[in-house]
Amino acid sequence: MPPDNDAIRCDACPVLCYIKPGRTGACDRYGNRDGQLVRLDPHLVLDKAVSRGDSVVSFLGREQDWDGKIVSGPETFVTAIGAGTTYPDYKPAPFIISSEVQGIDMVTVVTEGIFSYCGVKIKIDTDRHLGPETSLVRAQGEPVGHVTTSEYGSQMLSLGGVRHLTGGSKHEGTVTCETLLNLCERKPVELTIDGGATVQVQAGKPPVVDGTQEERMRVGCGSATIGMFAKQWFGKVDDVVVVDDHITGVLSEHQAGKLLGIPDTGIKIKGRRSTPGRYFRVAEPGTAWGGTNIEDPLVILQEFNPKLAWPGLRLLMVSTTGEQHAYFELDKSLRPVQRDLPNTLQESVARIKENCEPALCTVLFMGGAGGSLRAGVTENPVRLTQSVKNALTRVTCGGAPVYVWPGGGITFMVDVTRMPENAFGYVPTPALVAPIEFTLKLEDYAALGGHMDHVRPLSSLLSERRLSSRPEK
Ligand code: SF4
Repeated sequence: MPPDNDAIRCDACPVLCYIKPGRTGACDRYGNRDGQLVRLDPHLVLDKAVSRGDSVVSFLGREQDWDGKIVSGPETFVTAIGAGTTYPDYKPAPFIISSEVQGIDMVTVVTEGIFSYCGVKIKIDTDRHLGPETSLVRAQGEPVGHVTTSEYGSQMLSLGGVRHLTGGSKHEGTVTCETLLNLCERKPVELTIDGGATVQVQAGKPPVVDGTQEERMRVGCGSATIGMFAKQWFGKVDDVVVVDDHITGVLSEHQAGKLLGIPDTGIKIKGRRSTPGRYFRVAEPGTAWGGTNIEDPLVILQEFNPKLAWPGLRLLMVSTTGEQHAYFELDKSLRPVQRDLPNTLQESVARIKENCEPALCTVLFMGGAGGSLRAGVTENPVRLTQSVKNALTRVTCGGAPVYVWPGGGITFMVDVTRMPENAFGYVPTPALVAPIEFTLKLEDYAALGGHMDHVRPLSSLLSERRLSSRPEK
């Protein structure tokens, strides 16, 4: 369709919208204001004063968005949030800003990257079984990622990536992009796992598993819990079983119990014995005791050995969070009979709970600064990679520190809760838009073939004013 005569073309991404006056493009990030193509979100500049607890000096009143954490480098830090992109990849970065830091001339190169190849890694603090490893994770019914490994009280999910963003149906790509954007913007997102649970995930908030909000992250595995609390149980109980889907611990057999001189109790646990007092696979994974599927802990016990056990033997069974616990004494037939938890043991169960940290969801945005992003920094992009690897160039994402993966490229991860709000956007290709900044010495920038004729002083940026109101869409 031929464009309206007054429409202007946005070339900030491959969609190439024609935008009529007073309107915005498909991503809502660019608009036509009086015939000029403008980036609608204010460009965010942070002041290092925030790290001293002072308020942010920002453009256009967005200081409320920033929680005052983490900024290092120049006193006034120019983020890439609202800066614009380098698309179609031959342009220098939108802002290449020089400033002096402790007598050294520095330069910060900022650009918003269009990440068609990106994703999020999610850490969900829970003992509950969310679903089998490699199961698909869905949002709005579309596959957006998969369940990956479980690490010490947390279940990891990997969402997004090029296969879901561009390799499936158009709807899958759109839903994946929307899901990633919402997660990065710290909004709650409902995810369902094939053959598993429905989880509400929100960065920095507790997960909600099948409608139940998770409260505690385990103090440790069953074996570690035995080690940590063995002394507190000594003399107050004859044996303790810490039920855990990963490693179930048994006090009398465990090395900690042996060193304290706790006698054998004739207890026998179902499951695979790894080392003394440490058992794997005592049950199937689930959402009950210690991340297993058992509601009654006695089902993991075999009959007590009559040569070692005795009537009246006192047994505590407890989960890794202390959430579930039960106390038993053996009757004359050496069968466990449940009794009230004695006062002498209540403190240790409470201590397990006390030592469990709040369960949270962590969302890390992960992306690679590809050829076009790097070309916006230097005419010889590989030299930027080398400079990052040699620690001459610091990479940040909306001012937040990133972890750069070893190996090829500039593949980084950032905790989205350390970034200002509204730092992310999207384009309907689909791809996520995320800020990225490179800070290095001016002389190093010149040496790696930087766009020196585009370097401008910070003062020139701070004196500018840009669009603050949004035209109707
Ligand atoms: S989607 Fe946004 S960035 Fe892409 S061309 Fe349209 S207005 Fe510009």
